[in-house]
Amino acid sequence: MASSAILFDSSKCTACKGCQVACKTWNQDKFEKTANSGSNQNPPALSPLTRTIIRFNETDVDDTNKIIWTFLKDSCRHCVTPPCEAYANEVCNVSDAVRITDYGAVVYTANSAKVKDLGDACPYGVPKQEKPGAPYVKCTMCFDRISNGLKPACVTACPPNALEFGPRDEIIKLAKERLAKIKDRYPDAHLHDDYEDVSVIYLLTHKNETYQNLVCADHGKIRTVSRRDFLKQIKLARRITNMLNV
Ligand code: SF4
Ligand code: SF4
Ligand code: SF4
Repeated sequence: MASSAILFDSSKCTACKGCQVACKTWNQDKFEKTANSGSNQNPPALSPLTRTIIRFNETDVDDTNKIIWTFLKDSCRHCVTPPCEAYANEVCNVSDAVRITDYGAVVYTANSAKVKDLGDACPYGVPKQEKPGAPYVKCTMCFDRISNGLKPACVTACPPNALEFGPRDEIIKLAKERLAKIKDRYPDAHLHDDYEDVSVIYLLTHKNETYQNLVCADHGKIRTVSRRDFLKQIKLARRITNMLNV
């Protein structure tokens, strides 16, 4: 089976959160206590019980001084060469914690519990664990569904087809076609620049800075270096932490 991908087309997303609900339902993840933070974004972040969220962001970075309200579906990007997998194998020497499946879905096993600070190895801050020593949790690209010929639950549930699923090359082609179609209406529309490295492709109507957590706030700078340097930085940080015994 060829590598697969998901397209998030922000020009179609209405922020209905149907994908969030479908994800929770399919994975039988419990609901979590949350609070009104003054935003429609709820819960406020990814967690072991919430594998995807719609992020809401208000900015006035445009020349027009108008407030821009954007929506972004955040989850694991299913990196083509996942830093989390390299970290588990090469830095922590834990094998079979992270599996890259035939479909390109990056899936965690129970062994992920043995990988300390796995969440820090992800440029997008995605993997979460309930408590230290517990397995890490994240989006699986609905591997259990796609390996049985179904689309991911979030894609199936999306009313305006803002989410599309299919072979990776076809999804990238579709993303480029959609980009050409919306360019008149959204002059700043673009494919997020990591699209060749990931299998969750973002077609964005506005500039990157109008989206919340397009890259994880803590890791944005690291994301701009090469994979090799990224791993070096992680190894160095790990060594210093061990030396300080913190
Ligand atoms: S279900 Fe579709 S339209 Fe609704 S929030 Fe998710 S991606 Fe957007
Ligand atoms: S987005 Fe993060 S968790 Fe997902 S495959 Fe990439 S590095 Fe791993
Ligand atoms: S692909 Fe599946 S696990 Fe991933 S966000 Fe969609 S519903 Fe959740």
